[in-house]
Amino acid sequence: MNVVCDPAQLQRQCLAARREGRSIALVPTMGYLHAGHAALLDDARHRAEVLVASVFVNPVQFGPAEDLATYPRSFEADAALARDHGVDLLFAPDPEVMYAPDHDTWVEVPGLARGLCGASRPGHFRGVCTVVSKLLLLAQPDVAVFGQKDYQQLAVLRRMVRDLNFPVQVQGHPIIREPDGLALSSRNVYLSADERAQAPAIYAGLRLCQRLVREGQGSVGQVLAAFQEHLAVHAPLTQVEYDVIAHPESLEPLGDSARLAGAMHMLVAVRLGRTRLIDNLRLQD
Ligand code: AMP
Repeated sequence: MNVVCDPAQLQRQCLAARREGRSIALVPTMGYLHAGHAALLDDARHRAEVLVASVFVNPVQFGPAEDLATYPRSFEADAALARDHGVDLLFAPDPEVMYAPDHDTWVEVPGLARGLCGASRPGHFRGVCTVVSKLLLLAQPDVAVFGQKDYQQLAVLRRMVRDLNFPVQVQGHPIIREPDGLALSSRNVYLSADERAQAPAIYAGLRLCQRLVREGQGSVGQVLAAFQEHLAVHAPLTQVEYDVIAHPESLEPLGDSARLAGAMHMLVAVRLGRTRLIDNLRLQD
């Protein structure tokens, strides 16, 4: 495995691979890699001859009051995991080489980025779209793999790639969970023991909602009320930031009075102490 910190060098190496006719897969991450990232790497490994992964805590996707300074990092462990999962090129740039002091070019998908996480994290998806655009132009992959854990991010990036004609296939990968259902996240290390004990209630609540929808009784509002009730009982330390049942692609929320018909995806963000956790589940195809 080759570790590259210089964007121009990554671009040169990827261009050379392309000229030799070798296909490239890209897995962008912010590091502190866990089994969720590993699953993305394993998936991507089978899709191309050259596997590129990036570890970059992208400062422009963090708001001023967010956890950029404390975001967990462990480069040595990340490099070992990347090597074990077949990464050929590990791109680990410093922020200074990714963003010139007068960087002033941004990529936005304002409609899809407005609601859900975008509502409480203004500018977040603009930062994500900008860095992923840069990574796609540097690595020039045939395929890029992203987790469905960040469901809105995946929808935003699919739209960006379609709208701007990036020559890449965007591949979504299912959410990897702990045995008790908690979605793996680098931010789970922030949880205290009490918070960690309550965190599985988020996925259990989503599954409860999926059952209610399958039974077909009631309305969207009643299903969302059941989710909130489930958390109030089983995870009193949580605060629901949003819980939405939306169209799986447009992410357009269904109104409370909507009937339980058609394709539905549920997305939630929950605060547990100082940690913000997100999760999502297809309720009905
Ligand atoms: P991050 O390092 O959190 O920015 O995540 C990098 C990539 O890994 C993103 O595409 C995430 O959606 C994906 N990812 C993170 N956690 C998981 C998980 N538990 N299951 C599947 N994919 C994940």
